[in-house]
Amino acid sequence: MPLSARPGLDAVPAYRQGRSAPAGASKLSSNESPHPPLPSVVQVVQERVAGIHRYPDMSAAAVRQALAARYGVDVDEVTVGAGSVEIAAQLIHAVAGAGDEVVFAWRSFEAYPSLVRIAGATPVPVPLDAQHGHDLDAMLAAITPRTRLVFVCNPNNPTGTVVDADALERFVAAVPRDVLVVIDEAYVHFDRTASRGAGIELFRRHPHVAVLHTFSKAYGLAGLRIGYAIAPREIAEAQRKVAVPFGVTDLAQAAALASLAAEEELAIRIDEVVAQRERLYAVLTAAGWPAVPSQANFVWVPSGERTAELDALLHAGGVVARAFPGEGIRISSGSAADIDRVEAALAAAVSGGDAAHDSDRDSDLMGVSA
Ligand SMILES: *Cc1c(COP(=O)(O)O)cnc(C)c1O
Repeated sequence: MPLSARPGLDAVPAYRQGRSAPAGASKLSSNESPHPPLPSVVQVVQERVAGIHRYPDMSAAAVRQALAARYGVDVDEVTVGAGSVEIAAQLIHAVAGAGDEVVFAWRSFEAYPSLVRIAGATPVPVPLDAQHGHDLDAMLAAITPRTRLVFVCNPNNPTGTVVDADALERFVAAVPRDVLVVIDEAYVHFDRTASRGAGIELFRRHPHVAVLHTFSKAYGLAGLRIGYAIAPREIAEAQRKVAVPFGVTDLAQAAALASLAAEEELAIRIDEVVAQRERLYAVLTAAGWPAVPSQANFVWVPSGERTAELDALLHAGGVVARAFPGEGIRISSGSAADIDRVEAALAAAVSGGDAAHDSDRDSDLMGVSA
C-alpha cells in the first residue's frame, strides 16, 4: 500500500498567503502595518540576536506578566503562541476533537475552517447578515449539543464590521456555559466605536469567554510571530499542553515586551492607519465601488461578479490586494502613498473610457473564474 496522509486532510484547504507584490508595488493584501518596526524594537531584537543559540523561555513569563498587568488579569489566564493563529489552534485543540463542532461566521478569517478540520472537528460556518456582519441569532441557532467552541471575529476579517458590545454580551449570556466563546480581536486597536475592546470585559464577567489578540497587526510584528489569549484558567492550562514547545522565540518575546512599553508611540501610527482607512473607504465610494464601512485596518468591497475587474484595475495601478473571486476584495489600509495609488488606479478606470467599464469584456480577458 502506498503512503497516504490521514483521512480527512483532503478537506483542509491549504492556507493562502496574501499575494506577494512585485517590486515597487503597494502590498495591501495581508493587513500588515505599513510602518517599519519601531527603533526601540529593532534595538532590542538586535541585542537579543546574540543569545539565539539558547532556547527561549518556554513559559514566556515576562511577556505574560506584562500582559496580565496591562489587562488586570491573572498571569495564569494569559497564554502566548507563534501568532494568534497558533493560539486559535491551541484553543480548538483544547476543547474540540472528532465529532465536535465549531461555529463561526462566514465569510470570516480563513484559518478557522482549516484549523477546525485539522483538529478532526467539524466546521459550522454561519452566513454573515446582509450588512456583512455577524448574524448572532443564526449563530446561536447553529449551536448543538456537539458544539464546543464559537468564534466571534471582532472586527471581522475580511468585512471590517463590528458586533455591538451589548449584542455581544447578550450572545455570550445565551451560549451554554460548556461552549467556549472565542472573541478574536486581532484588529481591536483600529476600532473607533464605543464597543471597542468588549472582549476583555466579557472575559471578566462570563466564565466561558476567551479573547485573542496579536502583535502582528497594530503592533507591526507580523514577521516575528507572537500572539496571545486571555482565557479561563482551565482552558489556558489545556492550551499549554497542546502548544508547540518553544513555539515563541526569544526575539518575539523581547519585541513584544518592547512594543508594550512603546504603546503611546504605536498609538500615533495606529491613528494614521485609521485615517488612511477612512480615506480608502471614501476613495472607493467616490469611484462608485460598494465599500463597507470598516473598523479594522482594511476595507471590504463586495464587488461580486465585478471582482476580477476591480482586481485588474488595482493591479494595473501597482496595488496588490486580496481578491476572493466572485465575492469581493479586501484592501489593507496602507500608507498615504499607498492610498494615493488606489485612488489613481480607480481614476484610471474612469478616464480609461468605455473599455474599462465593459465588464463583460474585462471578464473575458481576465478569465474571471480563476
Ligand atoms: C491576522 C489575523 C490573526 C492573527 O494572525 P497572527 O499573525 O497569527 O497573530 C488572527 N485573527 C484574525 C482574524 C486575523 O485576521
